[in-house]
Amino acid sequence: MNIRPEIKQEAIARAPLVDRFARAITYLRVSVTDRCDFRCVYCMAENMTFLPKRDLLSLEELDRLCSAFVARGIKKLRLTGGEPLVRRDIMVLFRSLSRHLASGALEELTLTTNGSQLSRFAKELADAGVKRVNVSIDTLDEAKFHKLTRWGDLKKVLEGVDAAQSAGLHVKINAVALKDENELEIPALMEWAHSRGMDLSLIEVMPLGEVGPERVDQYLPLSLVRARLAERYTLEDIDYRTGGPARYVRVKETGGRLGFITPLTHNFCEGCNRVRVTCTGTLFMCLGQEDSADLRTPLRASEADDLLHMAIDDAIARKPKGHDFVIDRRTKQPAVSRHMSMTGG
Ligand code: SAM
Repeated sequence: MNIRPEIKQEAIARAPLVDRFARAITYLRVSVTDRCDFRCVYCMAENMTFLPKRDLLSLEELDRLCSAFVARGIKKLRLTGGEPLVRRDIMVLFRSLSRHLASGALEELTLTTNGSQLSRFAKELADAGVKRVNVSIDTLDEAKFHKLTRWGDLKKVLEGVDAAQSAGLHVKINAVALKDENELEIPALMEWAHSRGMDLSLIEVMPLGEVGPERVDQYLPLSLVRARLAERYTLEDIDYRTGGPARYVRVKETGGRLGFITPLTHNFCEGCNRVRVTCTGTLFMCLGQEDSADLRTPLRASEADDLLHMAIDDAIARKPKGHDFVIDRRTKQPAVSRHMSMTGG
């Protein structure tokens, strides 16, 4: 399958996206499918109902949508999901979007993956201009990995990491910090990542969608994790940024970088540069709020992009100041009803 040349638009610069709090929107995350080959206990319920395939934007529509955002000053584009590498023919989209890297309009094309399909796709991703990839691994214990992902095979994921590094991709490991689950393993995960030249980012679990277990039983504040790590390691704050929400330290003993993504204990909404689009073309201006904009209708209404740009402008003007996630025993409802797999992590 190919994307027809006549729909491959160059990103002819239009007015950049700036919201009413003067935040420039330069980072787009696109969930290319809500499906995943894992069922991580903090991300999805065991029995998820997925969208019928006919509701999904085609690869051509995703290309057009991403290109419209690139024309509006998006510099960093992350394909995510669900699991992006289980979407059929996904490499067609990567290859097609790489034209914006070649033209200089886009600075980075990247993805977040669970790694299960990376051995198969690492080389093709590198050939399409992908330089960095985030791989989610919460534990290096095979049995626990299987339990946390409900279905995952750690060996396959580690082979994927090997393949990515052999293909010359910079790998960053993402791990959600989970109370009583991987709390004690964080030092080992960090030492492993750093010994292979990979950064590790820790993430606080967010109350997105009903998943089965109570959030309060999963939530581990990173302020606590950091304090415990600081008893064993020397953590030096550094200015390193990747355009995302992580704040980094250098770990003196390992020489590696450790990132903290802290939407609960410390949100950095004032510097938020991101919006997210789902695989049905719904734009979410904030991960932690319900407001959204339908971009599929204007996309399909006309072959020109004017209606689409008007819808994007309307939505960006409504981007909220921030989110207020709460996880405690009294708050039973998730902050938003949709799962992370829908909005895209
Ligand atoms: N399937 C890919 C993966 O596993 O990385 C991409 C999608 S996944 C939704 C993206 C990231 O979101 C993963 O690192 C995952 O651990 C994280 N995530 C999922 N649900 C979360 C939640 N409720 N709170 C915090 N992080 C979450």
